[in-house]
Amino acid sequence: MSYVQVVNIDKSFQGRQVLKGIELDIEKGEFVTLLGPSGCGKTTLLRIIAGLERGDGGKVIVNQREIQEGQSKKEQNIGMVFQSYALFPNMTAFENIAFGLKIKKIPSAEIRKQVQEVMDILSITGKENNYPHQMSGGQQQRVALARALVVKPDLLLLDEPLSAVDAKVRESARTLIRDVQRKMGITTIFVTHDQLEALVMSDRIVVINNGEVMQYGTPEQIYHKPANKFVAQFIGTYNFVPGTLVGLPKADEVCIRPEHVLLVGSDELSQMGEADDIKLQGTLENFYILGNTARAEVVVQGRTIVVDHLNRFAGSRFALKEEVGLLIEKKACTTLES
Ligand code: ATP
Repeated sequence: MSYVQVVNIDKSFQGRQVLKGIELDIEKGEFVTLLGPSGCGKTTLLRIIAGLERGDGGKVIVNQREIQEGQSKKEQNIGMVFQSYALFPNMTAFENIAFGLKIKKIPSAEIRKQVQEVMDILSITGKENNYPHQMSGGQQQRVALARALVVKPDLLLLDEPLSAVDAKVRESARTLIRDVQRKMGITTIFVTHDQLEALVMSDRIVVINNGEVMQYGTPEQIYHKPANKFVAQFIGTYNFVPGTLVGLPKADEVCIRPEHVLLVGSDELSQMGEADDIKLQGTLENFYILGNTARAEVVVQGRTIVVDHLNRFAGSRFALKEEVGLLIEKKACTTLES
């Protein structure tokens, strides 16, 4: 039996259904991310799992116990970190972190030891006496995480805890959360609408759209074998081109990742690749640098095909409006359900 079971959860607000028959199984120690566009139902699902909201149907079982709305935190042993951190403003970092242990009436020497341990793991030792307003966003976020972790919850729920910190802090916080979660072996459900964050952090990802699970799988499965067009469009970039354009008359639409398309000189194309590779001629319309990758947009018979490659050269080999060639391995093309 899975450690967390979400069974057939439905939820409507004012007659509008926002969750439809959600089913999830999560193993002990797994890091699972709920990913989807704004308003798709991620927070509502997380709140139902936490017992803060009641589903209209279905049930949630954590560590063999069914979650009931209104149960005390102590009964449930679920830790939660919100977007806003929700630290107590009139308490120091130490007092904030110690709060859950005090409620459990743990002796103060033991509290001191446990708080210190978790502060060490999260690299916030030395901030014990700081109030929330005396700490940076990143430090406050780590205090909130420490407060949730110190009680060793059966399940940790994180609702976009990185949304309020800047890009650099966010990147290191991702690694930190994942390291701590692995080290402590805490089963975690993380909510984000950031696909990169989900790919980097998760053991498995639940892609949700309009209150329905579109796909539940590992980052590899979600990226390389998207279940449908929504998942393909939401995770990374895909080219959707008519089958006829790539010499596949029967397929309605063919999907190709930009990194599977090779940009070459139009005069080089005939000597390159294997016999069954797809070879197209087009015009380079755009070229821009995304960071460590560069992106070209090539128009072939009126359709734009996006090509990504590593950004190892200064600028493009080709001029804008130049005729270029595209080489695509046939096996890199897939068709998807809409
Ligand atoms: P975001 O990424 O923007 O936080 P989300 O995927 O977490 O979005 P939810 O907050 O779960 O989405 O909301 C799902 C839908 O349910 C939205 O259309 C929202 O307006 C609606 N909703 C959520 N809570 C309530 C409520 N208490 N009353 C009425 N409608 C609600």
